[in-house]
Amino acid sequence: MIYKRSSALFAEAQKVIPGGVNSPVRAFKAVGGDPIFVKEAKGAYLYDEDGNRLIDYINSWGPMILGHAHPPVVDAIIDKAKKGTSFGMPTEIETEIAELAVAMVPNIDKIRFVNSGTEACMSAVRLARGYTGRDKIIKFAGCYHGHSDSFLIQAGSGAVTFGSPNSPGVTKGTAQDTLLAKYNDLQNVESIIRSNKEEIACIIIEPVAGNMGCIPPVKGFLEGLRDLCNANKILLIFDEVMTGFRLAKGGAQELMKVNADIVTFGKVIGGGLPVGAFAARSEIMDYLAPLGPVYQAGTLSGNPLAMSAGLTMLTELNKKSEIFKSLADKTEYLHKGIASVLEEENIVHTINRIGSMISIHFDKDAVVDFDSAVKGDNETFKKFFHGMLDNGIYIAPSAFETWFITDALTYADLDITIAAVKKVAKTL
Ligand code: PMP
Repeated sequence: MIYKRSSALFAEAQKVIPGGVNSPVRAFKAVGGDPIFVKEAKGAYLYDEDGNRLIDYINSWGPMILGHAHPPVVDAIIDKAKKGTSFGMPTEIETEIAELAVAMVPNIDKIRFVNSGTEACMSAVRLARGYTGRDKIIKFAGCYHGHSDSFLIQAGSGAVTFGSPNSPGVTKGTAQDTLLAKYNDLQNVESIIRSNKEEIACIIIEPVAGNMGCIPPVKGFLEGLRDLCNANKILLIFDEVMTGFRLAKGGAQELMKVNADIVTFGKVIGGGLPVGAFAARSEIMDYLAPLGPVYQAGTLSGNPLAMSAGLTMLTELNKKSEIFKSLADKTEYLHKGIASVLEEENIVHTINRIGSMISIHFDKDAVVDFDSAVKGDNETFKKFFHGMLDNGIYIAPSAFETWFITDALTYADLDITIAAVKKVAKTL
């Protein structure tokens, strides 16, 4: 495939935008080469500036669960835009989407909307600190909760891809309030809690990790965290920015049957517009301004375009409850197809999958945490990525990311993808 115009646009972009991108993972730094500039997208496909058509397995990093330019979502945005794009005043649609979200997700009474997943997680932690009167938080190595200071301590996603899991600019004071634990290691969490008795406000976790590739929790891990939190008056925050409205109507809480105290959302909840949200029981949410002392605000929060895209998306998902099973079936089909092709070609690999999230590591050992995720063979991943791209398949340009399956993907698309893996595997 030819990417001449993309490369030219990237050269122009680099003159005026740091690294030519507005979010680091978009650059192909981990895999080499120039990023692809998108012209438009429809359903399961991206169309780039050189006229190539690519089958998309990133889907804007998760939001486009029904495919790109999904007509009801696009219509809702157009309709709203004609009536004004921002007021900074309350609108009825904010209550409508809040009511629907509260009905779909277990164990939440109230929800507040923000503009990104980062904001949602940052605000959730502030709320947890305000509510408990404690300063420290526990986060897990390899989990990513956005780029707010407290979270850039051994973060996943772009932070690992670029080798800077601890970012300069985060003060020592902030860093020392973030305690690092090992994903899927309950004993490790227990010992951290023991050494910081009555100092920990919250444990924040991706209930299914998606930012070191996809890593599901081992049996009993989330349940164990729930018990530890109960016993030590620590709030459990599920970062469901990726998993919310994706793994089930009620997200990971529903699928795993474990309740969190605060849940954060992003991606799907905005239908492709910039939306995040955090939610909890009333007694916790009422700690927020204007009712309570914990301050949190936003000029564009609850923006009418974003709310109409989000409301349409959630309404569609709520109507089609069979969709989560159908997404999981497609993902299983892809998993089995890729695994059998890689086995035939004797390519050492581990595939992790849950619901519509899947990732491949080129390593024989199980990938269960950050250490096992970074052990994978990155050189093989690079070749695999470029091979897939040459065959018209767009996967995340880093091994530390998850692929997202959308409703728009057909079994024919999945077969094309599996055939591409077969071709590429011969070159690895
Ligand atoms: N939490 C998780 C689990 C995420 O995957 C991400 C983004 N990939 C974020 C938080 C941050 O969201 P945003 O990029 O919208 O700020």
